[in-house]
Amino acid sequence: GLAGIALARAKDVDAKWQGTSTLGGTTKNFRDGAFVESKASTWCEVRDPATQTLLTRVPDTPAAEFDAAVACAHAAFPDWAATSILGRQAIMLKLQALIRSHMDDIANSITLEQGKTFGDAKGDVLRGLQVVETACGITSTLLEERLEVARDMDCHARRVPLGVTAAIAPFNFPAMIPLWSIPMATVTGNTLLLKPSERDPGASMIIAELCNLAGLPKGVLNIVNGTVDTVNAICDDARIKAISFVGSDRAGAHIYHRGTRNGKRVQANLGAKNHAILMPDANKEHALNSIGGAAFGAAGQRCMALSVVIAVGEAQKWIPELVERAKALKVSGGFEEDTDLGPLISPQARERVIELTGSVEAQGGRILLDGRSFRSAQYPHGNFVGPSVVEAYPGMRAYDEEIFGPTLVVLKADSLEEATQIINKNKYGNGSAIFTTNGATARKFEKEVNVGQIGINVPVPVPLPMFAWSGNKGSVMGDIGFYGKQGLNFYTQLKTVTSLWRAQDATSSRASVNMPT
Ligand code: NAD
Repeated sequence: GLAGIALARAKDVDAKWQGTSTLGGTTKNFRDGAFVESKASTWCEVRDPATQTLLTRVPDTPAAEFDAAVACAHAAFPDWAATSILGRQAIMLKLQALIRSHMDDIANSITLEQGKTFGDAKGDVLRGLQVVETACGITSTLLEERLEVARDMDCHARRVPLGVTAAIAPFNFPAMIPLWSIPMATVTGNTLLLKPSERDPGASMIIAELCNLAGLPKGVLNIVNGTVDTVNAICDDARIKAISFVGSDRAGAHIYHRGTRNGKRVQANLGAKNHAILMPDANKEHALNSIGGAAFGAAGQRCMALSVVIAVGEAQKWIPELVERAKALKVSGGFEEDTDLGPLISPQARERVIELTGSVEAQGGRILLDGRSFRSAQYPHGNFVGPSVVEAYPGMRAYDEEIFGPTLVVLKADSLEEATQIINKNKYGNGSAIFTTNGATARKFEKEVNVGQIGINVPVPVPLPMFAWSGNKGSVMGDIGFYGKQGLNFYTQLKTVTSLWRAQDATSSRASVNMPT
């Protein structure tokens, strides 16, 4: 039957992993190293977005259970912070091996709950795994600074953990984004409370079980499922010192303000509208394939999706070929081998994408390729929309709003300068790419464009985890980025120690009252 593959996969995932979805059953919380059934009175349903099969129900964790989870994280902190750096590194080394060997299980869970293709889901896991791998280098990256500042006097700086930290994750990367925080927070000696997206918590639950297998002590990682109340509890609990948030503008601004008002560090990665500039001197095949992949991959539900292309001058005549490439993409269930785009996360997301795509007609734009009425014969109940390409301009909703679906906005410009200005005026600043074979053009663009992550002939320029996430403008709140050196800084605070060790001290009997120099 149509739900056959999904059901088989669900049973497969379910049989192996105690904390994940029991088909039609409940997702547990993870506390003190154990999977605990919640006594919640309200639950969210997780449905396979390709079939609407009920996969699991996710609890809105009640206040008492939330409090118990924070208490666990709080109690586990002193011992964990006192564990040697080599001990913490050894656990990270085991965790990276376990994630690698269970990649297919995690990817299965992602395709089931989130809908992206199985190949793309493995990429989701791999990009998170790379953060774990980088965290294994902690013994080098956390090396301290020391200087002899005066005779017999030394000053050194040490980075120490904050205490209990929290991470709040979005639905679109169920493995990668929790893995931006789990390794970075714990390897630096903090304990962590993770709130996965209520729409696809399965990957986080599998990772929690792998953390147990890797030897992460009880209470170092805890998972509280839930929605707004759980998020607000995280913002308000005085035992929690820092919050990492990734998700939409609205939730992010709320969490940033509420968390910082309560004296916490907050790093928040928000929405995006990423532009590609297509120059007439580009390698056409490479550019069109890259733009098509980055616009429609994961059905456009990536914060680094290229959702706008600005065709400059003669490159405008390639737009029909871009439309042809979009048309050729296959839309189907994520487990089907030749699928390019899976379903959107929810029926509401589908309605929203259809509405926003159609809005260009009333606002003076044009629909060049219309995927709104797409229906899958094999998965008739799925949240599918086909790829759309629309011509729209600043001031029109399809351009101004983040669509988060497989709709590519195309606009035209006469010059690199004009195209760069369009990008610089956009409120978001996550990423941008240019396709050109001219080094001087690329360099000018890199210098003049105001976004944080720039691709030159690279469509999705997400920095690897030895660098830091560096979106800017409206795409972030807070001032310390995720992972890389910035991630280490986010999860640690500085202590500087000035010490004087002198064999024979001076013999004056008067106290010196001047500021020491
Ligand atoms: P979302 O904001 O709806 O949800 C994110 C988290 O916030 C979830 O855990 C959710 O439970 C919680 N939440 C949602 N609404 C809330 C509210 N009103 N009050 C308190 N908490 C709330 O985001 P999403 O739809 O899951 O994810 C998609 C968004 O995330 C897109 O805008 C995308 O661009 C963004 N995103 C950004 C990055 C980045 O690094 N910049 C990466 C991935 C996704």
